[in-house]
This record gives sequence, C-alpha cells and structure tokens, in this order.
Amino acid sequence: MSEPVGNVFVIAAPSGAGKSSLVNALLADDPSLALSVSCTTRKPRTGEIEGKDYRFVSMEAFESLQRENKLLEWAQVHENYYGTPRDKIDQAVLNGQDILLEIDWQGALQVRKALPSVVGIFILPPSIDALLERLQKRATDTDEVIAKRIQAANSEISHAPEFEYVIINQVFTDALAELKTIISSVRLRYAKQQTRHRSLFNQFGLDA
Ligand code: GDP
Ligand code: ADP
Ligand code: 5GP
Repeated sequence: MSEPVGNVFVIAAPSGAGKSSLVNALLADDPSLALSVSCTTRKPRTGEIEGKDYRFVSMEAFESLQRENKLLEWAQVHENYYGTPRDKIDQAVLNGQDILLEIDWQGALQVRKALPSVVGIFILPPSIDALLERLQKRATDTDEVIAKRIQAANSEISHAPEFEYVIINQVFTDALAELKTIISSVRLRYAKQQTRHRSLFNQFGLDA
C-alpha cells in the first residue's frame, strides 16, 4: 500500500524559544496545516483561549483521559501535565491532512514510537540570555516559573539531536521562512507527491 499523504510534524523547544509564535504565524499562512490542541493541567495564561491554545483540564479530568487511553502521548513538564488527544491525530492521518504537534521531547519520543514517519523539528534560541529576556518580555509567568523554565532549558536542548531539523530563532522572519521550507520539502518528497498526484504519475508510467 502507498504511504498516507498526511504528514505529522512535531515541534519542540525550550520554553521561550518562540515555538508558539512561529507555529501561530505558520498556521495563519497555511490553512492546510492543522494544529493538535493539547490538554494541560496548567492554568491558562492571560490571553490564552480555551480550545485554541490548550484544553485546560483538572488533574482528575487528565487522569480520566489517561485511563481511557484517549491520549496519544503525555508527559509531565515543569510540574504540569500535558497530553496530545488521540482523536484529532487519528482523523488527520486517516484523511491525509498535515498536522503539527507542539510538544516536549518526551512526548516527541512517544509519538515517534506510535508514528515512525513523524518529522521532528527543534527550535533553538540564539542564546540562554535571549531565552531569559524573551520569557521576561512575554510577561506571562512569575519570576519563579521563569527561573524553573530557564533551569530546564539545557536539559530540553540536550534532546535536540533526536530531531531531524533544527531552526535557530534569532530573526523571527528568517526562522519562519526556514520552518516553511522544512514543511514544503517534506510535502515534496517523491512518495508523497506520487500519492498526491497519482493519475499524473500513472500517465508518465511512474506507478507505485
Ligand atoms: P511554552 O514552553 O512557553 O510554550 O509553555 P507551555 O506551558 O505551553 O508548554 C509546556 C511544555 O509542554 C512545552 O515543552 C510544550 O512543548 C509541552 N507540551 C505542550 N503540549 C504538550 C502535549 O500535548 N504533550 C506533551 N508531551 N508535551 C506538551
Ligand atoms: P514558546 O512557545 O517557545 O514558549 P513564545 O512563542 O511564547 O515561545 O515566544 C516567547 C517570547 O519571545 C514571546 O514574547 C515572543 O513574542 C518572543 N519571540 C519569539 N521569537 C522571537 C524572536 N525571533 N526575536 C525576539 N523575540 C521573539
Ligand atoms: P507552556 O506551559 O509554556 O505552554 O509549555 C511548556 C512545555 O510543555 C513546552 O515545552 C510545550 O511544548 C510542552 N507541551 C505543551 N503541550 C504538550 C503536550 O501535549 N505534550 C507534551 N509532551 N508536551 C507539551
């Protein structure tokens, strides 16, 4: 059987590297890309919208999702629990839609086990100082939370080699262009194009 057309992208980065900003800008420009909305036990930050940024749930509700096997992966990150609902990913893979997951390295590892063809993208900040400055400027977390996230950054970054692609988010517009390039190049892989343009390939005798 030919491989499914849909691609699953996983984006990871230390907190403050700019993954949400990059992903939001990417989605605004690319309606064919869907975002997996994670469940989390973290409290919403000012400006975060239920169902768009996260599904904010209680610890009890999160445990029910785990028990009922409704999460494709889950992990504890910075003292909160995060998980990817299985339903939307299953649906996207079935329908051949591209889907993007913004999750931590532990989750990325679990997704790769379930879906070996997943494409991993890691976002690096230009420096630890820049990371700290961005978290402070974002002004969504207390100093204590920021200190914990900075402390965790090096350990998150040590998992960058587990990803196929890496982007250094120094100049935002450059990083966004690089992210779009990765997405395009994955979509243009021979097997994907062959599945997507089956009748054209057949006309040229390029059958599966
Ligand atoms: P951010 O790092 O500033 O974007 O802060 P968040 O609180 O939004 O995310 C905390 C961590 O949880 C990040 O490493 C996310 O990538 C990760 N995360 C978010 N959603 C999920 C998920 O569904 N599963 C897993 N495993 N990790 C997630
Ligand atoms: P993450 O989702 O990885 O935690 P965010 O997307 O929330 O990161 O970005 C953290 C902060 O840094 C935000 O205030 C964002 O506007 C800012 N930011 C993102 N990319 C850049 C960049 N290239 N240069 C300067 N600031 C940036
Ligand atoms: P934040 O609390 O700042 O939104 O996210 C903190 C970290 O949790 C980020 O590294 C983010 O990628 C990760 N994260 C968010 N959602 C998920 C998820 O569903 N699963 C996993 N494993 N990590 C997540």
